Parts: sequence; structure tokens; C-alpha cells
Amino acid sequence: MIPYSTQTISKKDINGVVKILKSLFLTQGSTVPEFEEKLCSLTSSKFAICTNSATSSLHIACLALGLKKNDWLWTSPISFVASANCGLYCGASIDFVDIDKSTFNICPSKLEEKLIIAKKRNVLPKIVIPVHMTGKSCNMEAIFELSKKYNFKIIEDASHAVGGKYKGKYIGSCQYSDVTVFSFHPVKIITTAEGGASLTNNKKISERMRSLREHGVVKKPDLFQKNSHGRWYYEQQYLGFNYRMTDIHASLGITQLKNLKKFVKKRQEIVKRYNKSFKNFKGLLPSYDVESSYHLYILRFPQSLFKAEKKSIFEFLRNKGIGVNVHYIPIHLQPYYHKLGFKKGDFPNAEKFYSEAISIPIFPKLTIKEQNFIIKQILKIT
Ligand SMILES: *Cc1c(COP(=O)(O)O)cnc(C)c1O
Repeated sequence: MIPYSTQTISKKDINGVVKILKSLFLTQGSTVPEFEEKLCSLTSSKFAICTNSATSSLHIACLALGLKKNDWLWTSPISFVASANCGLYCGASIDFVDIDKSTFNICPSKLEEKLIIAKKRNVLPKIVIPVHMTGKSCNMEAIFELSKKYNFKIIEDASHAVGGKYKGKYIGSCQYSDVTVFSFHPVKIITTAEGGASLTNNKKISERMRSLREHGVVKKPDLFQKNSHGRWYYEQQYLGFNYRMTDIHASLGITQLKNLKKFVKKRQEIVKRYNKSFKNFKGLLPSYDVESSYHLYILRFPQSLFKAEKKSIFEFLRNKGIGVNVHYIPIHLQPYYHKLGFKKGDFPNAEKFYSEAISIPIFPKLTIKEQNFIIKQILKIT
């Protein structure tokens, strides 16, 4: 089976990990801070806090921004469940903003419509999480403008978008957000096996997230609330977690990061070949721009244009050994969210997108031969 995505591991990745295994520190050594520095220099954000997953990073970002019971968090229904669950972890309520039909990203005008109504009812969100679906940035300038007008915080879920850019700057600069979250899961652009990072330009928020990653413990003397008892002294100031990244994982991150541009370029070449081969799909091709990280290649098969149903197209491709996938089942249609009161019909664009979307393989190691095979099979679909 050709997977829809997979990691690319080099000799350097392996040697780096082995070196850590032979060193003094497997965790809490100097490798995580080194990886964090490298993420800052890539994105030009001031602070980076690495964790054991993007899910953990989203959670500590929400907490550091003060999300709690009776607050609202809004995100896109077309995302992985983690983009919404992080709000539930904090005891907050969740709502969604429908996607734009062509970008699959949260729609700024739908966001504004919803904000106008929420303002009248006095239920404005504390946090909005735009998700850079497939690696193409949301319209951050528009969302940022709205955040000033309606006074909410922004966490960019950039799990798909490491190496992607917005207005010429690497995503993660946080120019239009409070925090940006990366995922380093193996299917994403670069990997640490499991891992994530929260980036921010706000010192206070960074210190809060750093502490929440480690049980809510604070080690910097200038942040102590009481008098130090001596050199060993630390304070638990919040209820935090053990969300630490290990030095083994961070080493992988450092060596992977060196190949970031190469990985994105490979993905771009695959997109170009797909786009050329599927030019008859016209309006159905994924909407990228040159700044995307090209995490996913999603084709749509609307019933109005294809004889076959999505389900049977999916079966057909899987039976051919093509590891197609679906990104995503709209979060509000999950049983857990159904119980929270969401129902079919709530977000029509997201539901229509879901009824048509199939992700086909895209990853740096995908060979031309494999790609030609995939293209040939897809062109058989009518
Ligand atoms: C992968 C992903 C996550 C979760 O990432 P983990 O590192 O697996 O926790 C969150 N949001 C989106 C959009 C993702 O694609």
C-alpha cells in the first residue's frame, strides 16, 4: 500500500538519535532548547516551547491565554479533533465557523457574521483557532483585524504548515496571532515521531506555556512568588502536565529541520505533476499558492460530476494499493460533539466538502513511478 503520507528518515537523523542515546541526557538536556532555538530562527518568532505533541501544545496555549469554564473557543469543523478538544480540556465551550468553499480554511466573512451575532448575545469567543488546512495559510490579516475589533486571541493550528509561508514570512512568525502550533507527527512535513511546538512573541505567554509543560513548575528566580529556600528551589504556580519532549525526539527535529526546504520542494513538484495530470478536474483541484507547505493533496469527487460515489471511489483506490484517506470527518459530526448539541446541517460547506474529499498520496519519497500509477488509476474514475 502506498501511504497517503510518511516520514523521510536520513542517515543523519539516525546518527543524531544514536548520539543522544550514548549521551548523558535522554531528556531535559540541551537538545530540546537547541531545537527550540532553531524553530525561532526559522520562523523569527521570539519563543518556542516544544512538547510531546501538537495536541499538548494546543492545550497549554489555550491555558496560557486564560481559557476556562464559561469561555468560548471557535475553530474550523474541517480539522483534526485536537483543534477543538483543546478547548474542552480547559472546560470551555466549543463552536465552529464554516469553511470557505475553495480554500477549505475558516471563512473570514462567516467568522465576522458569527461575531456580530455573538456580540449581541454577549457570547464572544475568547480564542479562535484558524487551521491552515493542507498547509495553505488562512487569511490571517482579516482574522487579525477581527480579533482587534471583537477582542479575541488567536492560536494558529499550523500542524500542516511547517515550512509554509504567509505574505513571504514563514508561518510561525506569529505576526497575526498570539500563538502558533506545529505538529511533528510522522505524516506531517517534518517529524520527531511524536511532538509539537508552541511559538509566540509574548514573553509572559511563553513563560506560562513553558511552566505548564512541566507540572506548572517555575524555575527562573525572577518569577518566584515566594522567597527562595536555596539553589534547589522551584515553585509550582499552576496545575500543569508532563508534556515534555525528549532529547531523542528533539535531535530528530534538528536534523529533519535541515531538510525542510527540500521536503517542501519535493511536495511542490508532486503537486505540479498532479495538477497537470488532473487539469480536467478544473475547479476541483486543491487551492494552493506558492507559499503552501503542500501537506495534503485533496481531490473532490462531487456526485454531480462523477458517476461513482465517493465511497466506491475510495474503495477502488484502496483496492489498487493506493492508501487514500479522508481529511476530515467534520468535527461537529463526531458522536462526542453530537452529544454536545451539534447536528448535521450546522456547517453546510464543511459537510459538502466532506462528502466529496479524498486525500491522495503526497510525501517526499513518493517516486515518479508510484505517482504515475496513482494518476493512471484516478483518471479511470468517471
Ligand atoms: C496532526 C494534527 C493535530 C495533532 O497533532 P499531534 O502532534 O498528533 O498531536 C492537530 N491539528 C491538526 C490540524 C493536525 O493535522
